[in-house]
Amino acid sequence: MLTYLGVAGWPVAHSRSPAIQNAALAAAGLTDWRYLKLPLPPERFAETVRALPAAGFRGINVTIPHKQAALALADEASATAVAVGAANTLSFTPAGAIQADNTDVDGLLEALPADPAGMTALVLGAGGAARAAVYALSSAGASEVLVWNRTRERAERLVSELGGRVVDAPPAVDLVVNCTSVGLRETDRPFKSLPIQADTWDDGTFVADMVYNAGGTQLLAQAQQRGATVVSGLEILIAQGAASFERWTGMTASRATMRAAIEEHPQIP
Ligand code: NAP
Repeated sequence: MLTYLGVAGWPVAHSRSPAIQNAALAAAGLTDWRYLKLPLPPERFAETVRALPAAGFRGINVTIPHKQAALALADEASATAVAVGAANTLSFTPAGAIQADNTDVDGLLEALPADPAGMTALVLGAGGAARAAVYALSSAGASEVLVWNRTRERAERLVSELGGRVVDAPPAVDLVVNCTSVGLRETDRPFKSLPIQADTWDDGTFVADMVYNAGGTQLLAQAQQRGATVVSGLEILIAQGAASFERWTGMTASRATMRAAIEEHPQIP
C-alpha cells in the first residue's frame, strides 16, 4: 500500500515541493511513498484535511492561504507554530491526530550561511513568511529585527505579537530578508516597490529572498553584484521541505538530491 504526503494550497499548481519531496523520498529508498499536489479551496480545506489520515496520508505541507487554518484545526501544535501563528506542516499520528508545526522558521535559519546572532536584520513584509522570519531571527539572537511593510498597520500588528520594531525608512543592516511577494513576476521592480538601499550593501551584507523563480530574482542579482552573500528562496524552500520530510519519515532528507531535482527542472511546469 502506498503512503501519501502532499502540499495543500489554493492555487498550488506552481509548487516545487512535489519535485523536491519525491526526489528525496526516492533517494531515501521510500519507493512506496508519493507526494502529491492538493488543490484545496478554503471552504474545503478543513474537511478534506481531516479525511486525509484515513486515505493513507502521513502528513502534508500547507501553503497560501491555509497556514492559519492549518494551525486552527490541529489537535496539537509545536511551540514554534503557536508563536508564529501559522503552520506549514501537518503530521498525522497512527491514531489519526493532527500535529501542526512551522518549518519555515528552521528552514530560514538552516539556509542562512552565517549565524544571525548579533546581526541587525531587516524583514520586508508582514505576511506569513515575514512572521516566520521575525520569529526565527529574534529567537536566534539577532541584535535588532526591523520590520517594514507596505501596509504599516500589518507591520505594527506583527511587531506587537512577535517583537521587533517597525520602520518606514530602514537604515543599513547586516541582513535583509525579503518576505514580500515582490519579485515573483519578471515585471516586478523590487527597487521601486521596496525601501532597500543596495548602495549600502557590501561583502559583509547578507541578502535573503523568500521569493523564488526560475531565472533568479532581481533583488539577489543586484545583491550579488555588490558582493553581498545571497540566500535564494529555493535554498529556503529546500531547507523547510527537508525539515518537514524528517518529521514525517524519521529519516534525513538529502538536500543535494532536492537541489538537483530543481536544477534538473528549472521551469515551473
Ligand atoms: P502573504 O502572507 O500574502 O504576504 C505578502 C506580503 O507581500 C505582504 O507583506 C504584502 O504587503 C507584500 N506585498 C505584496 N505586493 C507588494 C508590493 N507590490 N509592494 C510591496 N509589498 C508587497 O505571503 P507570504 O506567505 O508571506 O509569502 C510571501 C512570499 O514568500 C511569497 O512569494 C511566497 O511564495 C514566498 N515564500 C517562500 C518560502 C520559501 O520556502 N522560499 C516560504 C514561504 C513563502 P501588504 O501587507 O501591504 O499587502
